[in-house]
Amino acid sequence: MKITKVGHSTVIIELAGLKILTDPWFTDPILGIVTHSRAIRLDADDVPELGLILISHGHFDHCDLKAIAKFNKNAAVIVPDRKTAARIRKLGYSEVTALSPWESRLVSGVCITALPAKHPVPECTYVVSCGDLAVYFGGDTRYVKELKEIGEKFDLAVALLPVNGLSFPVLGKVVMDPVDAAEAAIQLKARVVIPIHCNISLTVPFLKGFFERRITGTPEEFAAEIKRRNRHVKVVMLRPGESWVSD
Ligand SMILES: [Zn+2]
Repeated sequence: MKITKVGHSTVIIELAGLKILTDPWFTDPILGIVTHSRAIRLDADDVPELGLILISHGHFDHCDLKAIAKFNKNAAVIVPDRKTAARIRKLGYSEVTALSPWESRLVSGVCITALPAKHPVPECTYVVSCGDLAVYFGGDTRYVKELKEIGEKFDLAVALLPVNGLSFPVLGKVVMDPVDAAEAAIQLKARVVIPIHCNISLTVPFLKGFFERRITGTPEEFAAEIKRRNRHVKVVMLRPGESWVSD
């Protein structure tokens, strides 16, 4: 298994010959003001031929329709709800499946299981597995109590966990922060954790300051929290463009 970070929650997972792209976000800035906090060094046009696009939910930093319109249309697409499925079908994809939590689908011998998540819009997280290799993809969920059950059901080599703890007035925290993610890593019993959802900023200086106050976590704080709990979880920090390969 090879995992390459593109940026934010966008990752390329290569498993059993299948290339899987998670939560595509390439357009920068998107909506004119939302930008990657670090250059991602991969353009939507340069994405390799994909077997599967895995989408956790419909927010623009996870489901960049402009970029998705550029990928090979014979790729399977898995989404968490019918509304997102309809948007993807409109782009020319025919093999689009909306999965509910605990439902699975086989794509070229790789099993995708949708799992519960919590966010202001319908969201699923996923386990991607083949043989004895399994990876958890956490999108940008909040902490959910089902993580323990997921950890009991799957032997996870890797978990990709959101860490930036994005929060808003009224809505409160909408994404796991470093403390939540450390607890999630322990409940999932993942041997390796790669932090994600930590590559977002705003282009407008005034709004940028406001927005960055809404972000409470960094990958470094997550690693420190794991260390503080003295747990044997290996934290692998990937910058955009960097890869991790299983033994
Ligand atoms: Zn979101």
